[in-house]
Amino acid sequence: MSDVLDSGSGGIVLRAPLKTQSVLLLLALCAAFICLTCVESRAQAQTRVKITVSSPEDIVVQAHLFSPSRLWSFRNAHAGVLGIAERIDRFRANGVYVRMVAMGEFRSSTDATEIDYVVHLRRPTPADVAHVSWLNEDHGFLMFADLLPQGMEAISVEMAVPKGWTIQSAIAPDADGIYQVSDPDEAIFFVGRSIRKTAKKELDSFVTGTWPFKDAVAEKAATRVMEKYLELTAFRLPSRPAVMIAPLPVVTGTTKWRAQTRGSTVLLLMDPQVQMKNWKGQLEIIFAHEVLHLWVPNALTLEGDYDWFFEGFTLYTALLTALDLKAIDFQEYLDTLARVYDSYISYPNVLSLIEASERRWTHPWPVVYDKGMLVAFLFDLVLRKESGGKTTLASRYRELFSPGAADRGDGNDVIIRLLSSTPGAADLAKAYISGKKDLELDRYLASYGLVLDTSGKNSRLVLGNKVDDDQKRLLRSLGY
Ligand SMILES: [Zn+2]
Repeated sequence: MSDVLDSGSGGIVLRAPLKTQSVLLLLALCAAFICLTCVESRAQAQTRVKITVSSPEDIVVQAHLFSPSRLWSFRNAHAGVLGIAERIDRFRANGVYVRMVAMGEFRSSTDATEIDYVVHLRRPTPADVAHVSWLNEDHGFLMFADLLPQGMEAISVEMAVPKGWTIQSAIAPDADGIYQVSDPDEAIFFVGRSIRKTAKKELDSFVTGTWPFKDAVAEKAATRVMEKYLELTAFRLPSRPAVMIAPLPVVTGTTKWRAQTRGSTVLLLMDPQVQMKNWKGQLEIIFAHEVLHLWVPNALTLEGDYDWFFEGFTLYTALLTALDLKAIDFQEYLDTLARVYDSYISYPNVLSLIEASERRWTHPWPVVYDKGMLVAFLFDLVLRKESGGKTTLASRYRELFSPGAADRGDGNDVIIRLLSSTPGAADLAKAYISGKKDLELDRYLASYGLVLDTSGKNSRLVLGNKVDDDQKRLLRSLGY
């Protein structure tokens, strides 16, 4: 599980296109006078973008901007991947070449509404393959966050791909093949020669490549996990999600898979050569983590860096979900926590979880994952014990998604308040989320009938010799 170093995206889908709205309002007021030009004006009341795949290396982007501009800025770093603005070339504004004044920044001396440029895609590496656009001769992924200038709001997009290729996405095109993209930073398009689609009530799945399992196995694994999270949060996602699966384009022998969930899209890239005893179980384990990101953080409107929660707590909740789905057994649940503990003690504990979240992409250690997951485990135990098994960490998710609970607040404040529902839980939050106290896992575990045995090469989490009835009940509620 500790190689689940993906990237939960902090963005929110369905942001209201304010500019478009106000223009439409004006148009409505003037309708009596200019009804004949209405339709045309409305069609032009937003930025229009055309993306052309001219070769696996080059993407041509042309945009007609809704409002004139003279400065365009491209992201240079994303999810720890650096130098992505270096791929932008031949940038022109109103047909005139414009110089890059700083990395990723193009400045023109006059206002312009037409821009065009080329993006030279790089060969993907295991570190960036799930986060940055790439193409090969057969297929690939276009992620607008690294193809378009920053700050674009709702846009309409036309795409041109090589003959025989199709375009797939969580966004459906209109009758003219135009995509209305409300939040470009969240958009991922899967383009390629032979992408197979399965449309189900809960989600669409798109698969390419040859696999040792049927496409329906992957779709069912994602659906089973989705149903669990609908139950966990009692919250229906605002948009229908899409799951995209393709072969990992870089085979190293050590990287089995890479995944990312952005907006309404779960992207999963796997090495088809990997020997896997139980593909169905493996897919459920991967989706147990990724699919939860569709809710946390993608469907929340919280601000700030609270990665300890949406990564660390997601790892723990995914582990419980995998146990619930019988993708793992109770021993694997304990073994995973023991492995994460060994990882946690292998580096210095110098940051609180909040500080670690602020430095997630620059700090060398996976603190938000390891410590975040172990702290989630402690919260679950404390909440179960204090309530006699009636309340679990899962109930906090339902509260988080109750109306008004998390409207545009600071993520750290909102979630710490939510988690600190009892004195014991409040103490945990103070010591381990805002504070940087060393985790005293063994001290906590003793009262739950569990023992952390650190005497061997690897730590083991085992049942104690004397487990009383209350402890047994608690362990059973976890899946023992
Ligand atoms: Zn994640």
